[in-house]
Amino acid sequence: MNGKKRLGWLALALCTLGTLALTALPGEPAAVPAMKLEPAALLVRPGELFLDGVRIPELRTSPDGSRTYAPAAEVLAALDPDFWAGEELEYQALSSEGRDWLWLEDFCRRHGIASYTEGPPGPIWCTSAAGDWSPPEGYRAPILMYHGVGDDTWTTPELFVRTQELEEQLRWLLEEGWTPVWFSNLKHADQIPKPVLLCFDDGWSDNYTQLFPLLQKYRVKATLLIVAGTVGWSERVLSWEQLREMQDSGLVELQCHSLYHSDLDSLDRAQQEEELCWSKLELMRHLGRIPYVIAYPRGRENADTLAICREEYRFGLKMGGPVYVTGADPLTICRIGIPRGLSLEEFAARLEA
Ligand SMILES: [Zn+2]
Repeated sequence: MNGKKRLGWLALALCTLGTLALTALPGEPAAVPAMKLEPAALLVRPGELFLDGVRIPELRTSPDGSRTYAPAAEVLAALDPDFWAGEELEYQALSSEGRDWLWLEDFCRRHGIASYTEGPPGPIWCTSAAGDWSPPEGYRAPILMYHGVGDDTWTTPELFVRTQELEEQLRWLLEEGWTPVWFSNLKHADQIPKPVLLCFDDGWSDNYTQLFPLLQKYRVKATLLIVAGTVGWSERVLSWEQLREMQDSGLVELQCHSLYHSDLDSLDRAQQEEELCWSKLELMRHLGRIPYVIAYPRGRENADTLAICREEYRFGLKMGGPVYVTGADPLTICRIGIPRGLSLEEFAARLEA
């Protein structure tokens, strides 16, 4: 079959996905406009697609293998509605087996959606927030940095905020009109009243036993930064099962904190690539999403780190420093440390500083 004929099959139906409400639930099906498409012959592509964390098991490929197709209705329903709120998404599709199939590579390119494939026959991961976007500039968004939660202070005690202290801080934030968000929500920073980001580094198991119940009680979003190579190593560290359960709650976003928590600035470039890229792949394989935020262990980075992360991540987090204002260098973002024993007055002062 020649290229012209394939093009003829491609109906080039430029469809428009209706406006998605900011309040839409993740996974809510989006309306697909009716369209007449030419029938086409597609081959089964082994493997599966994870789009914004949603598994889409059926894939097709053009006979020459150059194009991947996924069922249009499933793709549109899987897209993160908060991320794409208010945007019109065009796509090209063709009809086969009585269904509409969306040309995946074109769709991701068109809308700047990050895509990674291990196949075929391996899976394809596509994640909107890991793609090509930036928050609108000039919006204040304090980023709080925590580690452990609770009284089992098995290492430096300052790193463990008391459970009761954290609960008081969450209540204060909500009463004062702050909106706890994820980094992906900053795409709409201009529409969010007083955005604040809660980060918990290192992936300790008290994040499941102490933090997670509070997030559920107050319906608050948090970001956990995971040391990918140590997941499930001991009872002190979260397991993949716990991580998936928290991610599925819709309250926790899981991002990267390197492979083994090495000081990146003491490693050569190849070793840094291992820390920064293998960890990304590991998280992707276990969690179905491409991570797009990296917290540098102990805040340490150098020119090699930044060069690698410019390709692999959208946001790079350090420790300490002034309140983050959107538009600042996204790879050297400062965070506000919240140690154990901080009074509510001191907590408030750090946020308002
Ligand atoms: Zn750390």
